[in-house]
Amino acid sequence: MEEVLLYTDADRVLIQRAYRKLLRTINKKATQEDRTDIRRAYEMAVEAHAKQRRKSGEPYILHPIEVARICVEEIGLGPTAVVCALLHDVVEDTDVSLADVRKEFGSKIAMIVDGLTKLDGLYNVESPQAENFKKVVSTLVQDVRVVLIKMADRLHNLRTIASMPRQKQLKIAAETSYIYSPLAHRLGLYNIKTEFQDICLRIMEPEIYQDIADKLEDSKKLRDRYINEFIKPLRKALDALKVPYRINGRPKSISSILNKIRTKKVPFEEIYDLYAIRIIVDVAPEREKSICWQVYSIVTDVHTPIPERLKDWITTPKSNGYESLHTTVIGPKGRFVEVQIRSERMDEISERGFAAHWKYKGVQKMHNLYENWLDNIREILDSPHTDALEFINDFKTSLFNEEVYVYTPKGEMKIYPKGATALDFAFGIHSDIGAHCMAIKVNNKLVPMGYKLQNGDQLQVITGKNQKPSEDWLKLVATGKAKAKIRQALKEEKRQKGEYGKEALERKLRNLKAEFDENVDQLVKFFGFKSRMDLYFGIATESVNLNDLRQFEVEGGKLVPRKQEVPVKPVTTPATELRETPSPMRGVPKLIINGEPGEVYNYKFATCCEPVMGDDIFGYITINDGLKIHRTTCPNAMHLMANYGYRIVKAEWVYTQNTSFTVELVITGIDDGPGVIERISHLISSTLGLNIRSFTISGSEGFFEGRVSVVVNNIDQINHAIVTLKKMPGISNVIRSETN
Ligand code: MN
Repeated sequence: MEEVLLYTDADRVLIQRAYRKLLRTINKKATQEDRTDIRRAYEMAVEAHAKQRRKSGEPYILHPIEVARICVEEIGLGPTAVVCALLHDVVEDTDVSLADVRKEFGSKIAMIVDGLTKLDGLYNVESPQAENFKKVVSTLVQDVRVVLIKMADRLHNLRTIASMPRQKQLKIAAETSYIYSPLAHRLGLYNIKTEFQDICLRIMEPEIYQDIADKLEDSKKLRDRYINEFIKPLRKALDALKVPYRINGRPKSISSILNKIRTKKVPFEEIYDLYAIRIIVDVAPEREKSICWQVYSIVTDVHTPIPERLKDWITTPKSNGYESLHTTVIGPKGRFVEVQIRSERMDEISERGFAAHWKYKGVQKMHNLYENWLDNIREILDSPHTDALEFINDFKTSLFNEEVYVYTPKGEMKIYPKGATALDFAFGIHSDIGAHCMAIKVNNKLVPMGYKLQNGDQLQVITGKNQKPSEDWLKLVATGKAKAKIRQALKEEKRQKGEYGKEALERKLRNLKAEFDENVDQLVKFFGFKSRMDLYFGIATESVNLNDLRQFEVEGGKLVPRKQEVPVKPVTTPATELRETPSPMRGVPKLIINGEPGEVYNYKFATCCEPVMGDDIFGYITINDGLKIHRTTCPNAMHLMANYGYRIVKAEWVYTQNTSFTVELVITGIDDGPGVIERISHLISSTLGLNIRSFTISGSEGFFEGRVSVVVNNIDQINHAIVTLKKMPGISNVIRSETN
């Protein structure tokens, strides 16, 4: 190896240690040839990254080595993936080109590395993040390893995120929750998905995360004792099966516990199923199903099961390949306990997802399950998308977690994502059947096209030659495939109609003695359209009046605006409108934007999340409405940060006394007689000394929900109000409202 002067001795020790650790994981899987390839990739990467360091100060090369190790140890990939992971950042960040990689390692590896390399110079697009992601997905359909290595890359970046600036952390976390963690789920990488979610939560809501982590730690002893108490009476019967087995009781992830707290609206202390008990048997594939059911029978002999909670994913695996038998039983002290029963093979699939499927190919129809999904993605990719954002949204629909099983008239089973409609079914059968769908029968009865599919439905589609998709259809479907196909049909129709518009424009310009090609793009802008096709369509449907061309005169074949003419209608919002003074609040809250005094920016506070001084915030540059300040926990924040990261700016409070904010609190509780409103109002205005702007209350059957708008100076007042209100008798929960 060539002498590299940029590494210190200490660096080299670190690098070699990391590399040896990687080699140990790959040992059994690699042939001599693989080993040589890995060595060469390692050497190429070490040299290429010699000048780079990570934010933490470490040599950059440690990152690709660690990504390679994750690929092997945590995802179960083989030597090819190791070579690609080692090289995954060289083309993007160093002097090594894709051609160099191809020359050294062949076209397969070059193709994967290319998929992992970010697109260059994306300045003119709506969302560079979305464009880059689309590129990953386009390669994914050729070789799934691309996306698996991308997952390992993202995982290592998240594990080392602490050295990044906060704003960057938020962007990465948002993008991860938006697309990477649903994708990890879809690929069956449950461990990685869970880690993604937990790290994102720690970044986005650090206090809440820490609180749950502490409580989990505190309750660990009690929990272990309880698990033992639960398992003990099962042992004897399980031993009698004469099959090797292991049992563990793992706590659920912090993000899933928080999810429970939020959806069930109960405090941590009242969540009893903080863990699931897992019984894993080691048997040959042909005995798996019967042994698992025997274990089920043993568990439910001892602990009473709750029948509705029985889930049999052994007979019908989930579409990501997950197999397991789940039941919830009533354990000691009357607590609900989830029990998962599976074989070692099923367990490995649940931990490693996709990669494990290659190993067990042939068992069940795993391969087909993924092929169906990949086919769907291919179809989404094949249909024309105007922008990558539209693509990402369609792609996201292919990541649905749950599915429904329905049947064709011939009894063939089809799997659709939960929420899919009868019209989705029609498009799923064939895009022509979807496009010409006139009516749909479910179990021999006509249903609306937007009917939501139910398990066991048998569907029949009635088509008509003259039927064609309309704009409304987009609202009647849920799958990305159907959406893409409908949009494609609409575009085609628009293009055809536009032909008339184009002819009319050509005629008009000829009469004016103006050139067509030289003027058309100017006219697209003048009439405020995005593309030529939109302009033609506008003319064809008469939303554009060609007489407006009188505002131009012709000079040498070119249209020029008449000078003395009344001003032409403006296409964009005039700048003066943006500069109106912010709300007439007493003392406008001051901010620091991107490290500078915020006065030069004309910011407004977003109404969706109503930031209050002290909240964690960020700025978002809107297209027409200046700079908007959102809370980082705003329901819209994730979408904005994940897709428009480049429009996000850093925003910080300048703490002052005389500011005021209006915040809405949602108070729920038990309505124990009259006077609830009076008691709450009294507490807020007299005890807490806050002004109430409005108060509405609704309720039924003893429950009520009140919405109170109060005026506060800062977040401490809000938090104090929430704590005080929560202590009032009859009140079960108080939260700040958030609207989407
Ligand atoms: Mn990387």
